[in-house]
Amino acid sequence: MTGELTALPDIEPSRLEVIDNPSPRPTPSSSSLVFGKVFTDHMLTIPWTEANGWDAPKIVPYGPLSLEPSCTVLHYAQTLFEGMKAYRNDAGKVTLFRPDMNMKRMVTSAKRIALPTFNGDALLELIKILIRKDKHWIPKDPGHSLYVRPTLIGTQRAIGVGPPNEALLFVICSPVGPYYPQGFKPVALYGTTEYIRAAPGGTGGYKLGANYAPGVVPQKEAAEKGYVQNLWLHGPEHYLTEVGTMNMFIAFKTADGQTELVTPPLDGMILPGVTRDSVLRLARDKIAGLPKDLIVNERPVTMNEVKEASLDGRLVELFGAGTAAVISPVDRIGYLGEDILIPTGPDGMGPISRVIWKELIGRQTGSIPSDWSVTV
Ligand code: PMP
Repeated sequence: MTGELTALPDIEPSRLEVIDNPSPRPTPSSSSLVFGKVFTDHMLTIPWTEANGWDAPKIVPYGPLSLEPSCTVLHYAQTLFEGMKAYRNDAGKVTLFRPDMNMKRMVTSAKRIALPTFNGDALLELIKILIRKDKHWIPKDPGHSLYVRPTLIGTQRAIGVGPPNEALLFVICSPVGPYYPQGFKPVALYGTTEYIRAAPGGTGGYKLGANYAPGVVPQKEAAEKGYVQNLWLHGPEHYLTEVGTMNMFIAFKTADGQTELVTPPLDGMILPGVTRDSVLRLARDKIAGLPKDLIVNERPVTMNEVKEASLDGRLVELFGAGTAAVISPVDRIGYLGEDILIPTGPDGMGPISRVIWKELIGRQTGSIPSDWSVTV
């Protein structure tokens, strides 16, 4: 028979080859950890070619990749990534938080820039094997975890923009400490009107490397003005979109005295964050401690609405939400030459973020049982 199509191999965990690191390093002390600076002894690599599909996965010693300078990733930003955390409890049990969502988002990102897609369950199985191998690198101290960074790059050795005929998926792991080791410190945001992070029809809704480099100069300029992060705005109405590299939530008192928790809708400009989805779910489930009359909405919010609510005393709180910091309270927004003040409690948090943060941390570390916590 001629012309029969045979599917090319997908990622296949049973083909895994493992090469042990001959010189494992001592693990760092928890107190010395700086986010993303230290990596564990091993990494996972899975090459792909257009002709042969996904090749055998390998766990190898962490180290440099060999790439030709013509590789498309180095010229056209054919790169996407994920960020997730593994936790180790006192009994030594290791868990990931909602990793299926990261796998799905990674495949969505790959589709957007014509990189090869794959079976997310198979990749997750391999990531678990990698984490188990370097399990002793996961600090047990409270608030510590292993940050896992799956990455996919286009490696075609040619100058020219198009779908690459070669790609490389790799996963590296970094032990990290708590984002706020001294307790919550609310941050000041710069309501950025000179630059944008994303636009309709653009790539803001995907976790592509190309979305991040252009944010560095605006971040530096915000820091020079005395603010910690950019508050990314959109359009002449100055709709709030995201905070630095986090999703954002804002709580208002409504005219009839209820509390409304709002986050901007997933309109293609907002990254569909795992933390965002989790905050929404907990708020909609009205977990114990949240206001009984809490209303939860995904809707656009303009800077004018925030400013007016602040002046009327109806602004309850504003916070960022993402894997790295989990919850990041905000106490001030610099906007068109003035500062909008946002209330925070003595612990730096607000009445909604405080309750949600506790529940999230509990479910992430496994101290509060939930099906969001997945055994490694
Ligand atoms: N927005 C952007 C631009 C991000 O980079 C991140 C971090 N991945 C988030 C939001 C938060 O997403 P998550 O909760 O999945 O970490």
